[in-house]
Amino acid sequence: MGNEEAGGLIRSRIASANAPGCEFPLNNLPYGVFSVGDAPRCGVAIGDMILDLAACEAGGLVEAGGTFAAPELNGFMARRPAEWARMRAALTALLAEGEGPALPLVPMAAARLHLPIRVSEFTDFYASRHHAFNVGCLFRGPENALPPQWTHMPIGYNGRASSVVVSGTPIRRPMGQVRGEDGPVWGPCRRLDLELELGAIVGSDSRMGQRLGVDQAEEMIFGYVLLNDWSARDIQAWEYQPLGPFQSKALGTTISPWIVTRAALEPFRCAGPERTNPLLPYLRETRPGLYDLTLGWTMNGQRMAQTNYNVMYYSSAQQLAHHAVSGCPMRVGDLLGSGTISGPTRDQTGALLEMTQGGRNPVEVNGEVRTFIEDGDEIGLFAHAAGDGYRIGFGPCTGTILPAEE
Ligand code: CA
Repeated sequence: MGNEEAGGLIRSRIASANAPGCEFPLNNLPYGVFSVGDAPRCGVAIGDMILDLAACEAGGLVEAGGTFAAPELNGFMARRPAEWARMRAALTALLAEGEGPALPLVPMAAARLHLPIRVSEFTDFYASRHHAFNVGCLFRGPENALPPQWTHMPIGYNGRASSVVVSGTPIRRPMGQVRGEDGPVWGPCRRLDLELELGAIVGSDSRMGQRLGVDQAEEMIFGYVLLNDWSARDIQAWEYQPLGPFQSKALGTTISPWIVTRAALEPFRCAGPERTNPLLPYLRETRPGLYDLTLGWTMNGQRMAQTNYNVMYYSSAQQLAHHAVSGCPMRVGDLLGSGTISGPTRDQTGALLEMTQGGRNPVEVNGEVRTFIEDGDEIGLFAHAAGDGYRIGFGPCTGTILPAEE
């Protein structure tokens, strides 16, 4: 039995990958796209280094049909789940402790990280009961907070792939229409917020009209990234009914550059909260579909809240199964936002809207008062799963707000 089955750290030839607290031990092997002043290509993070997968393939160390030379992982993902598993085994062997061939490694500090995929389409869901209830109270009052269908199906909306950016990209405060005393008022958003989410990356296509079982849907998920669904709450409040989010969610969505694979998260699989009613058969899981994954966010370096992915009412696999149920085809590179991840207490909330109760109860950040995000503020997301003697990290997912262009 190998170390992975035993649940411990798998030791690597790369010393930094064995250091306590390292986000990228050999157990992780997240995929990304990087460059060092040259053409972006695929790599895998190991300790404080990046293994250049395009160079590995050119040197005959791995075989991926030439897909690693591309500036996106879509081509590799399209090679199907059996190839994902084969590559993980090959990379684990290549990077394992002991003697081995010379490896094309790049210090992560010297690399620029790009969007890891060409985002085909972006869908965002609404799957934390605490978040749905808290936000529902603010927009609709406590009686109508949780819509009656909410415990029966994952609710979502179709977003825009074009506004997804990689960590570190500045986000411009949007201009827009907000509710005024006598109709709409034009101006910069005054209630700019974050949403702490996990993004699932679909790595397989489905046909139009093809329904997906939850297990089948899970097999299609390549991995996960951190996702900040920036939100303009004042624009949202005016446009929200009857169709839901539109310009309030179009200012940008930030994702982390490293895709943590489903395989790396497998040891952390866990069940979610108890259900209030049975689900229809097409949404039923045959095994627990969430992960014991700590997530949180910071503002200007101060830790603001921390929660866990295990609070979610629906898994990404259930969301994907529901997404396809009426015939919608899914594509390699589709991005599914989990919905804001919030626990029951204030220090577990994944958005300022909830934390400040709609702006009524400000918070202190490094001695300054905040209700929503100010120009120049930096929001960072973080996540890790804690194994026995190792951790699976996601790397940073940050964005700084630029002033509106009036
Ligand atoms: Ca969202």
